[in-house]
Amino acid sequence: MKNKINAIFNEDLLEFLDKKGELEEIEKGNRLCKSCGVPINLSNIQMIIPQSTGGYEYICDSISCVEGYYENN
Ligand SMILES: [Zn+2]
Repeated sequence: MKNKINAIFNEDLLEFLDKKGELEEIEKGNRLCKSCGVPINLSNIQMIIPQSTGGYEYICDSISCVEGYYENN
């Protein structure tokens, strides 16, 4: 069972991403929505999904992406 983190844009999220080294990758445009492939940024980030490999996947704030994620998992 996957853990889900509902991303809320606040200082905790920034700190979390920064600690994980993900903030820099997001700012570089290296993180894409798992569903539709748009670059994730701090405005459209909706969900952070920790992977068993240690990385993270992201879902943007598009309703179809969020709904699609819940339907497929
Ligand atoms: Zn998306």
